[in-house]
Amino acid sequence: MPEFPSQAEPVEAEPSVAEANRRIVSTIPPNSEDFEDARRGLIALPEIPAIPARHKGDRIVWNFVSYDFLSEGSTDEAPPSVNASLWRQGLLTAQAGLFQVTAYEHGAIYQVRGYDLSNMTIVEGESGILVIDPLACYETAQWALKLYRDATGSRRPIVGILYTHSHVDHFGGVRGLFHDKGGVVDPDIPIIAPDGFLEHAVSENVYAGPAMARRSEYMYAAKLDKSPYGQVGAGLGLTISTGEVTLVPPNVNVGGSGTAPVPRDQWSAKDVIPWRPGLHRQLVDGIRMIIQLTPGTEAPAEMNIYFPQARALCAAENATHTLHNILTLRGAQVRDAHAWSKYLTETIQTFGEHTDVEFASHHWPRWGKEKIVEFLSVQRDVYGYLNDQTLRLINAGKTGIEIAEELDLPESLAGHWYTRGYYGSLSHDLKAVYQRYMGWFDGNPAHLWNLPPSKAGVQYVAAMGGVEAVVTTAQQAYDQGEYRWAVELLNHVIFGHPDDSEAAKKLQHKALTQLGYGSENGTWRNFYLTGAHELAHGVEKPYNQEPGDLILSTTLEQYFSTLARALDGPKAAAEQGEPIVLQWVIEGAEEETCTTTLRNGVLVYVPGRDRFAGAGFSNAGGPGTPLRLSVIKLTRDVLNGLMYGADGDYRTAFDNAVRDGLVQIIEGKQEYADTVFGYLTRPDTTFPIVAPAVPR
Ligand SMILES: [Zn+2]
Repeated sequence: MPEFPSQAEPVEAEPSVAEANRRIVSTIPPNSEDFEDARRGLIALPEIPAIPARHKGDRIVWNFVSYDFLSEGSTDEAPPSVNASLWRQGLLTAQAGLFQVTAYEHGAIYQVRGYDLSNMTIVEGESGILVIDPLACYETAQWALKLYRDATGSRRPIVGILYTHSHVDHFGGVRGLFHDKGGVVDPDIPIIAPDGFLEHAVSENVYAGPAMARRSEYMYAAKLDKSPYGQVGAGLGLTISTGEVTLVPPNVNVGGSGTAPVPRDQWSAKDVIPWRPGLHRQLVDGIRMIIQLTPGTEAPAEMNIYFPQARALCAAENATHTLHNILTLRGAQVRDAHAWSKYLTETIQTFGEHTDVEFASHHWPRWGKEKIVEFLSVQRDVYGYLNDQTLRLINAGKTGIEIAEELDLPESLAGHWYTRGYYGSLSHDLKAVYQRYMGWFDGNPAHLWNLPPSKAGVQYVAAMGGVEAVVTTAQQAYDQGEYRWAVELLNHVIFGHPDDSEAAKKLQHKALTQLGYGSENGTWRNFYLTGAHELAHGVEKPYNQEPGDLILSTTLEQYFSTLARALDGPKAAAEQGEPIVLQWVIEGAEEETCTTTLRNGVLVYVPGRDRFAGAGFSNAGGPGTPLRLSVIKLTRDVLNGLMYGADGDYRTAFDNAVRDGLVQIIEGKQEYADTVFGYLTRPDTTFPIVAPAVPR
């Protein structure tokens, strides 16, 4: 292995990087009320230095003290290895504790901040509390609620839960709120969410879940040291917690069946704002809520909530103190900047005149109508600008890479701290808008059929005179501060010549580190520094998280779609001729039947029976009568266990379940199911990113 600096002796910032990091301060306004707002209403600091895992108490899922260098730091002492603007954001997001946002007739609205990537909001009602967005995991939610109870002495029961949107940091801790009841949630408690919540919560976190989790390790850098040489937050919050993810499905889907917008003749003076079409109302324990659905903004299912009694607006994650992501770097479907700006316009027009305090599920609140309307309006303008100016340049023939290089925000927008790219970045957001409208291809046929990185690496290195020559050129680029060019050159060596890339990796480690130190964006810094870390230390095993509750909440179609993405299609297609039909009978209060057919390397799902399973296969006993069919009876619990409960492979799990009498083959042969299960693969949660995969 090349000699990499140990974590005890970190890489120092090159003078040019240190100088640029200092200079950044003069390019943005000197101060703002953010620090005052981030500390306003503080009632209690965290009670413990760190939050342990529920079942493995020696593992830490959230660490307060590791961020002491931020929570006790000051803006004047930004270290040379941290972009001063990101440093400032780190200081703000490290303000942790219980905060009173506002008081009103039933009590108060509180937020627990700095206990996870997101905030938990507690709204006191006539006799109980409504909890909005119970953080990302069981443990952090449990301790956040405990902080509220200990600091206020309140024993009010939880009488309602509200998820603002379908991202895991806004629902994953829900069972932790009921720790005193073993995590069991009383089904009578209303759980309110925007329509489409469950579908998107599951599909975003399950289908590409393993790969997104792997890339999240880069994005949040949860494993890196917290220090001026390592992780200094993620821009949106400090990092993501690593405890047990839970989910209790909503029983009130706002905008779905059983709910309707409030008609004009049912509007009341108690709603404070003037009536508008499309607004929903919810009443929980005397807490009046006016809801604006904002689908397709920051999440596919999201909503803002106005509290007329408190003249308070919860802006979910639609307006935070950062430029947000149009496409998150962990991977997701691209968002719609146009819809985002359109819904913010509606928010301003609907609530702006009647809002004294605005808070969100990340960062700190804003108080005062003028400040709130300015904030929402500037945020709206930013997303509109991104969308429209990218389209203008697309129509002038520019590609995503060119647009991201050329377009800046006008000074009137960039001059606000909260439009800076701490979480989203202008660069990757502009590329995302390009992707939304145009896709991956830029129209140039030279880019239509590129060589993959390993082959390109071999050819580029040969063309440039061999490994040593490329590393020499990269070193010259590094010495001139051309880190972007250096990492591009070195990447060709690392992918083209993995066995002869020690010098390249060592220099790449330094170049990525300098890029990280210079980044204003928290997630860019985390990506660069995690990449450098993995070049030096290899890929570490991730925390094994059972997605239990998520898989329980899948529909049958989602369940089998998840199995289908585990199928080794090329192998199955090569080895199997005739279709294999598995008909599933799911026992329960209402028996459900569905069919999966393995054909042509695809696992096809059909609700009920598949009348055309054999279509296109001449020897299948005639159209619609395939030869290989099993009918399998089991409960939904057993079905869930086949995916995640088993230690071994899918096939062993299935055979064991048959042996134990949990699965009955009521028609056909077990070997048909065995064959299908034999093609299911487990995802690789440790795949390399900054270096090529080593053939096994
Ligand atoms: Zn969030």
